[in-house]
Amino acid sequence: MQPVQCAEEKLMISGQCNCGAVAFTVTDASQTNTQPGGIFICHCSLCRRSTGSNGIAVIVVDNHNFRWVRGEEHICTWRKPVGDWQIWFCRVCGSPLPGVNDPARMFVPAGLISSGADELRVAHHIWVDSKAPWDRIGDDGHQHPAAYVG
Ligand SMILES: [Zn+2]
Ligand SMILES: [Zn+2]
Repeated sequence: MQPVQCAEEKLMISGQCNCGAVAFTVTDASQTNTQPGGIFICHCSLCRRSTGSNGIAVIVVDNHNFRWVRGEEHICTWRKPVGDWQIWFCRVCGSPLPGVNDPARMFVPAGLISSGADELRVAHHIWVDSKAPWDRIGDDGHQHPAAYVG
C-alpha cells in the first residue's frame, strides 16, 4: 500500500513542451536524496548547441516524484556517440524534455515549467569554465568550473 502522507508543503510543478504533446508533473521538488533543490544551469558547449542559448537550466528530482501526464510516445532522444551526454526532446516541436540524470533521478528543463516555479532559484552553475564568451552570470548561484561538486 501507499504510505499515508499529509498534504502540507509539497511543491507541485507542472510543465509541457511548446506544442503541448508532452506534459509532466513533479511533486516535492524541493527534496532530492543527494543534491539540493534549486535550479542548475549547465553552460557546457553540448547544452548550448542543443538549446541555441547559453546552456540549459534544469531541476533534478527523484524518479518517484516525477510523472508523465501525456505524450511519452512523442519523446525522442539523442546520445552523443562519444561522451556521457544525452538529450530528450519532443518529436513534434523540438522542445527539450525531462530526461535521465542518473538511475535514481530525472532532470527537468526549468523553462518547461508552466506552474510551480515561483519558489525556484538558481542554485548552481556548472561547467562555468567552458561557458560562451558572451555569457555573463548575473545571479548568486554557486559557480563550479566543471561538473557539480556537492
Ligand atoms: Zn512538443
Ligand atoms: Zn551541459
